[in-house]
Amino acid sequence: MHECIQNLNSITNKVKEIIDKNNLKTDPKIIAITKTFEANKILPLLEKGHLHFGENKIQEAENKWMQLRKNFKNIELHMVGKLQSNKAKKAVMLFDYIHSLDNYKLASKISQYENQLNKKTKIFIQVNVADENQKSGIKLEEVNKFYEYCKKNLSLNIIGLMNLPPADEDASEYFKILRNKSQELNLNHLSMGMSSDYDKAILYGSTFLRLGSAILGKRKI
Ligand SMILES: *Cc1c(COP(=O)(O)O)cnc(C)c1O
Repeated sequence: MHECIQNLNSITNKVKEIIDKNNLKTDPKIIAITKTFEANKILPLLEKGHLHFGENKIQEAENKWMQLRKNFKNIELHMVGKLQSNKAKKAVMLFDYIHSLDNYKLASKISQYENQLNKKTKIFIQVNVADENQKSGIKLEEVNKFYEYCKKNLSLNIIGLMNLPPADEDASEYFKILRNKSQELNLNHLSMGMSSDYDKAILYGSTFLRLGSAILGKRKI
């Protein structure tokens, strides 16, 4: 069996264990983040029927997935990286989910192209929960206003919130803050948890885990 399949199986089991042990009602989906990995590394996952895949760059995603999608039509593709508004059109064309909506200009571009292309993507608002300068994301205290604007003025299909907790701290506190905000807004989804902290994210109600290295191994860059 391919190593990535073994990894995915053991993660799937671990997720189930955490859910059962803590009596959680959630059923988090695993997004295999395939950035930097070439098609031949991803194929075992596709052939096994894995459905959710994520990338963080438009160009790389286009090169890889335009082709792969022809043979694997059921998959759902997630954009998880920083998205420039001049690439909004390509993002809407390529992706089923966008996890990184982080400003008004991008929101209006996405809305414009969704109308033009007659396609709706499922969108997460990225929240800069720890208010870190180097990270993008809407400030916590501005999320309500941004959410209302995206929903009412732009008719975006906002399904939840996403965050990237500070690298050097316990992520739990930041998962909790995001969970509370999403409950306040009555949103159903949370994009939280990466290879190093997904176990904690599950405890705070994550519905989409974004896992790269835990499935595919170390990245070269
Ligand atoms: C790369 C990436 C991930 C996956 O990271 P791992 O630590 O390899 O699991 C998750 N989310 C985003 C936004 C990423 O860019």
